[in-house]
Amino acid sequence: MPINVEPLRKILQLEGEKGYLDSAVIGGLDRFLHRWTAQATQAVTSPQLLRQFQRLQLTNSNYASLTKEQRREWVSKVFAFLPELEKVEVRPSAEGIVAAPPVKRRPSAVKGQKVAGGSIDSPITTLKGVSTALAAKFKRLGVETIRDLLYFFPHRHLDYSQRKYISQLTEGEEQTIIANVWEAKVAMPGGRRSTEAIVGDETGNVRVVWFNNPYLAKRLPTNTRVVLSGRVGLFSGRLVFESPEWELLEDKELIHTGRLVPLYPLTQGLHPRQVRKLMKQVVDQWAWQVEDFLPPELRQRCNLLGLPQALAQAHYPEDEAAKDRARLRLAFGELLVLQLGVLTRKRDWQESQPGNPFNIKTPVPDAFIKSLPFELTAAQHQVLGEILADLKNPRPMTRLLQGEVGSGKTVVATAALLVGAASGYQGAFMAPTEILAEQHFANVCQLLSRAGEQVSEEDNLRSFSGLLSHPLTVALLIGGISQARKQEIQQLITSGDIDIIIGTHALIQEGVEFKQLGLAVVDEQHRFGVAQRSALRQKGFNPHVLVMTATPIPRTLALTLYGDLDLSVIDELPPGRQVVKTKWLKQSQRDSAYAFLRKQVAEGRQAFIICPLIEESEAIEAKAAVAEYERLSNEVFPDLRLGLIHGRMSVAEKDEVMHRFRSGKLDVLVSTPVVEVGIDVPNATVMLVESADRFGLSQLHQFRGRVGRGQEQSYCMLLSQNPSEIGRERLDIIEKTHDGFQLAEEDLKLRGPGEFFGTRQSGLPDLRMAKLSDVALLELARDEAIRLFEQDPNLKKSEHSLLAKELARVWQHGEAEWS
Ligand code: ADP
Ligand code: MG
Repeated sequence: MPINVEPLRKILQLEGEKGYLDSAVIGGLDRFLHRWTAQATQAVTSPQLLRQFQRLQLTNSNYASLTKEQRREWVSKVFAFLPELEKVEVRPSAEGIVAAPPVKRRPSAVKGQKVAGGSIDSPITTLKGVSTALAAKFKRLGVETIRDLLYFFPHRHLDYSQRKYISQLTEGEEQTIIANVWEAKVAMPGGRRSTEAIVGDETGNVRVVWFNNPYLAKRLPTNTRVVLSGRVGLFSGRLVFESPEWELLEDKELIHTGRLVPLYPLTQGLHPRQVRKLMKQVVDQWAWQVEDFLPPELRQRCNLLGLPQALAQAHYPEDEAAKDRARLRLAFGELLVLQLGVLTRKRDWQESQPGNPFNIKTPVPDAFIKSLPFELTAAQHQVLGEILADLKNPRPMTRLLQGEVGSGKTVVATAALLVGAASGYQGAFMAPTEILAEQHFANVCQLLSRAGEQVSEEDNLRSFSGLLSHPLTVALLIGGISQARKQEIQQLITSGDIDIIIGTHALIQEGVEFKQLGLAVVDEQHRFGVAQRSALRQKGFNPHVLVMTATPIPRTLALTLYGDLDLSVIDELPPGRQVVKTKWLKQSQRDSAYAFLRKQVAEGRQAFIICPLIEESEAIEAKAAVAEYERLSNEVFPDLRLGLIHGRMSVAEKDEVMHRFRSGKLDVLVSTPVVEVGIDVPNATVMLVESADRFGLSQLHQFRGRVGRGQEQSYCMLLSQNPSEIGRERLDIIEKTHDGFQLAEEDLKLRGPGEFFGTRQSGLPDLRMAKLSDVALLELARDEAIRLFEQDPNLKKSEHSLLAKELARVWQHGEAEWS
């Protein structure tokens, strides 16, 4: 039923023309108004609009008793209200539900108006009604100042915005009605002292029960107008509102019902209604005092809400669209500040000290590449080009090189190290474990032996002639070698006689003295953070840094966590690589999995078995692994040679077992997931993972990458007892997908960034509104940050002063770590 505004307009007009004598309509205006309003309000579904009816006294007008002047005033007010009414769209939906139109709500506090007492950074106890006891509860939620409160966002909103008539209520749903209280009394349903009420509207009556809350009865006298939002249940065949949120329909804004109602994180002793009330007060009073740190020009270009509006709408949104816009704005702000921070970090790293420009015109890398038994892939060429372009600059490179296991990162890194050596610099190549360092040493030497001629071979030291004007010398420096030999090698490093030093990250941590360190290559980025880079610098070196990782990091995450690094990606594998056949198996297929493994071993292959992930502690995990190893050795594979590694073993013990496996003295390696199994064993063709549904996709992909490194077809078997829905989804994806980057993206979607990659440990400010899956928004923020940086590198311009302040505020905690 649409609202027919025209008759009222005509009558009011006529009334004005006749001089406000209450003569425009026979029987008087009040009678007319009464009928007209009764009809009109039937169509009105929005509580806000209904309140307007009341405020204008349309529902119970008393025109006859007003003075002429009062009549004139009143008529003009009603006139002003009519266009708003006309905008109301009344469209019954399929079920005959009338949709409430969005209502414009004005902020109760006027923007710019200063509130006496306190600033936005004052403790919340300066707020009216906040005691020290209440403040202590908020402190547990990390809220101490008024600003904290403004940024204390609801984790979600309940949609109570759609009003229904009582006749339209359906069982089992969250619904909102506006009704008249006929009677409210204390009752004892099920022996619990509760409040029971009967309420009604134009279409019928309904019973309401508030369990365990007898006090409410007194607050709902007969004939109060209430808004109720909540679930409707069925009791002995009749609909009942069960403990709904309630609110009097008075002359103030609804906060618990009839709208999008915020749900805040709570703690012991904090109640939803109390928090909502306080938040409304704070938002109305303080959101408008927050200065927007985004320059207006930027805000306009990106079409973003102002900060005060965004804060207000994030808490008490007008509708879903407004809520989304608010989140967008707030998320953008966070991401922009984040990007500005990482860019500053990068600049400080690159510009505070001069670096070492390499001579990239040298023919050495070309000679090296020509000597390889294969052609570089297009992706390898591309990435090498990007690296060389960095190396020729006096600014130190900080580049992250991503590429799947086996994509050929080591070859590219070796070429870069050769350019350094040809330019007279030393290079360090660091791996996370000793066995991986040994593997790199073997690989690099093997690659070099084709380009040059090996002229000497000592313990942990090789020299190659024919590449440089002097013999190129490569050393391996790890814990396993004798103290005396270590010292000799250290001497040679200090005197500059060794060009390339391969070792673990201890190379830089334990004070190896380089003569002239020009390039540091770091394998596996997540153990080589900002702190390590700073350590390098403190030793007076400012080398180019190339960080390599086989753990694919989704682009968004890379831009965020490693936004201070430039990104290169090898996105193709050398031709002819086999696909590891992957299958997830149910518990009932365990025996056939073991049989398959046994068959492979009989054919001379080797296998990995990964024990289940146990999160409690490494000690418990180790214990479980020992038990599983014993079970497998005694009951399942008594005739095979099994080895075990877990995180509680010493480095030497682990290396011992790894070596035996690699040299073929073990058939099966049983391992806990925490242990680095990043070794290259081309003869291993079977990877069996227990409780596979508990691992992330990226991790499963890493496990799978341990096999398929040789000529033989390889297999990955994923055992899973009783996967959850999400676990099942993951297993299906990993069966079908072999692209690590795609898997990483899926992983991020399924698990969220926190789990994917401990963002906590990254030293970055936390993000409340931004999601790392917001690729487009993140890229926009990055573009804008770069633009700002180009225009005003130190944010010195007056229009950027608020932004500079915000940057300092947000980044103040992380600063010490990397400056
Ligand atoms: P990553 O370090 O990315 O895991 P590696 O550099 O160790 O990969 O390369 C894995 C294997 O592939 C090595 O044996 C290497 O010699 C070989 N390889 C590297 N690049 C190519 C290529 N373009 N074509 C064929 N084989 C390659
Ligand atoms: Mg590698």
